[in-house]
Amino acid sequence: MTNEELDRLADAIVRALEKAAPATGAWLPTPVRPEPPGPAGEPPAWAAAAQRLGDVAPIRHPEPSTHRDDIAAATPDIRAAAAGQGTVPARGSVARSAPRAARGHAPRSNARGGAFQVSIGISNRHVHLSADDATALFGPGGLTTHRALTQPGQFAAEQRVAVVGPSGRIEGIRVVGPARGATQLEIAMSDAAALGVAPPVANSGMLSTSAGGVTLEGPRGRITLTRGVIVAARHLHLSPADARRHHLADGDTVAIRCGVAGRETTWHGVLVRSGDGHATEFHLDVDEGRAAGVTTGDIATVVAHAPARTRARPLVTEHDVLRLAARGEPLPPNALLTPSARDRARALGLATP
Ligand SMILES: [Zn+2]
Repeated sequence: MTNEELDRLADAIVRALEKAAPATGAWLPTPVRPEPPGPAGEPPAWAAAAQRLGDVAPIRHPEPSTHRDDIAAATPDIRAAAAGQGTVPARGSVARSAPRAARGHAPRSNARGGAFQVSIGISNRHVHLSADDATALFGPGGLTTHRALTQPGQFAAEQRVAVVGPSGRIEGIRVVGPARGATQLEIAMSDAAALGVAPPVANSGMLSTSAGGVTLEGPRGRITLTRGVIVAARHLHLSPADARRHHLADGDTVAIRCGVAGRETTWHGVLVRSGDGHATEFHLDVDEGRAAGVTTGDIATVVAHAPARTRARPLVTEHDVLRLAARGEPLPPNALLTPSARDRARALGLATP
């Protein structure tokens, strides 16, 4: 075919195409724009946000991408951290975490001995009452439930008391049920200052070092406490399963970091409390929560802990149980109970390790 013949052929093709599309004169079909994003706010299928790396290239690593999986679950935590509430979640733990609503109070765990996250619970001032003191303040009939608390079996009662100290009075202090062996008033340092008392920082139940000098007022009567007033030491409740998972035991101490930017705080020497009847949660009082800028439901990170030690477990007999109960003290958290001691402790309503 000569060059002239090729030119004529090209002309014929051009005329045929122009005849086929006379309106636009276009040889190629008009490009079609992709669909705009839908009303639900979902990114369109062609947007980068909707892509997973696995769609584009095969994943050669055994681990899935830590970028895209569960990004939706991580978003609330990251936004909260950006807004100055809570800490930025660790990358690996976030990528594989469950959605926020499903997480509950379970810590997000990782490797043995590594950091893990727990929910914070801020304890407001409250009082635990012995059965006798409850009757003296509110009459017979017992405590009634206002709402259940995170720790299994514990509840905020409908009943409240006023507390009167040498230099002040605080109304509406919530009773926490059920009734206990001994009455215990747990307040923050700022409350103590308002009341004019100087209670020690103590672990709940250790009343031998507590203060007295306040009067509780209920609708049916008043009682003056000669002891039982404490500022509860910060502590980490761990469910038995979580304690096992993190190689921690009742009586261990850990360091826990939490707080908003500028007030971020690491709490050292936090006592671990674990056993039946514990749900995983980090308890601070109101003063401590304010100091770090955190509130109930925020996330804290257990950053350091010693592996569980081998401890001598004190043997507790039935006689020991009676002696401890008479003094209003709890059983040692790691006690080894004889069968009769366990029966007696249960009959007295003492928490058994
Ligand atoms: Zn607690």
